[in-house]
Amino acid sequence: MRTEPIRDQASAEAAEQARTRDEPEASRRSSQSALVRPARSSQALKTGLIFFPAFDWAISPTHPEREERLLYTRDQIFEEGLMDLPQIEEYKPRLAELKDVARVHFCVPDVESKTTEAHLIAAGSTLVLADALMSNQIRNGFALVRPPGHHSMRVVHGNRGFCNINNEAIMVEYIRKKYGMRKIAIVDTDVHHGDGTQDIFWHDPDVLFISFHQDGRTLYPGSGFVHEMGGPAALGSTLNVPLPPGTTDEGIHFVLENLVLPILDDFGPDLVCNSAGQDNHYTDPLANMRFTAQGYARLNERLNPDMAVLEGGYAIESALPYVNTGIIQAMARLDYSHVREPDYVPGRFTQTGEMVRSIESTVNYLLNIWETKDDLISRAKEELGQFYRNRKRVFYDTDMISENQEETVRMCPDCQGYLMVGTQASQGHGRLNTALGVSIPLFACRSCQDDAREEYEEHKQDAKYDFVYLQDRPRDVYRSYHTRTRNERAY
Ligand SMILES: [Zn+2]
Ligand SMILES: [Zn+2]
Repeated sequence: MRTEPIRDQASAEAAEQARTRDEPEASRRSSQSALVRPARSSQALKTGLIFFPAFDWAISPTHPEREERLLYTRDQIFEEGLMDLPQIEEYKPRLAELKDVARVHFCVPDVESKTTEAHLIAAGSTLVLADALMSNQIRNGFALVRPPGHHSMRVVHGNRGFCNINNEAIMVEYIRKKYGMRKIAIVDTDVHHGDGTQDIFWHDPDVLFISFHQDGRTLYPGSGFVHEMGGPAALGSTLNVPLPPGTTDEGIHFVLENLVLPILDDFGPDLVCNSAGQDNHYTDPLANMRFTAQGYARLNERLNPDMAVLEGGYAIESALPYVNTGIIQAMARLDYSHVREPDYVPGRFTQTGEMVRSIESTVNYLLNIWETKDDLISRAKEELGQFYRNRKRVFYDTDMISENQEETVRMCPDCQGYLMVGTQASQGHGRLNTALGVSIPLFACRSCQDDAREEYEEHKQDAKYDFVYLQDRPRDVYRSYHTRTRNERAY
């Protein structure tokens, strides 16, 4: 039996406020999960697909992230006759609204200047499938879209790792706002660390983010180590699994069976999303892993995500058509055993004993973090007092932008706390805009909501910043104030 999802934002807010008023945190959480049943129990039979190859967008004509990435996949899927099967339903893309982007990102100076139509359609495609999923038209969905998104962080000054805006994060916040879902798991299976998604949900204990990827000492973006495990109030809700170069199907499946699936079971998310990057493939030109199309299909079958969103994958002819076809068949519960690369030889790739031991030790370390995370959080909160402050540097490799950030998070006993991030960026010798973003989480307590709105109003007078932003998720209003012109707008 599936409980009806909450139909609109007003009733979702009212329901949340009613719970917030009267109940202690523990029972509030359980009633929240009981209220919205996981889409995983859906009776719908179809797998929803969207293709958006973005013909008119590329970083440059010879760049590895270009339209052919999806064209060969599309040919292969037609050749297999998948689109004619009753289990598959193709949907048409739509544009995401600027508001959907502003719910997640502080785009400096504004969303319009940091996105093209192609970016808004890639993000909008995930929302089409999200609506189809939540209205029970489909059992699961796969958005085969580009440009990708998982290197885009909360603040956006430009393009990082081929990404401007984070498609999957935009989908997650849309689903939470529109349908009242709270606990979401994102499993990132791209060969690169999903540093953008990690950044966006770093302080959010209700979003479990697990990324497995080639060791950051050997690959862009050079992060995703085991000690990166979330902000002080959300320790353990970010888990990074760096894998040695050359890891095979066997290694990735070991991580899945021994770490990812048991932790997902324990976390009990309302929705499981997969950032599906296909660049762990043995032919990928940008990385050094040994994953096969069969390995990817089986990974998808076991993970059983409600939504998959394409990220990277740059072996346009030798990998993407086979990997994507295998994943679609696994999602549609079709036999994928015949999907094989033309040069595939079973047993071709093996791991050394050293690689096996290294992967086992990473898994054990992370299992221990997961089991002790509540203690880690209470200790961190005790040490910190009222606010947590952190400085960091971000580099935008595509646009050659360097950014300095300072973030402040309220260590609230009643919610995850509101967040403020000050940002200053430069490109070459040119100074870009400075900005301050104030972010109110969707499920913030009343006092954090009030204080954050006050911070926004006060900082509008702060000459240090060119722009001041407010992400007011409980009210679903996203403000931007230009301190020089005193012009305010709202998405
Ligand atoms: Zn990638
Ligand atoms: Zn609070």
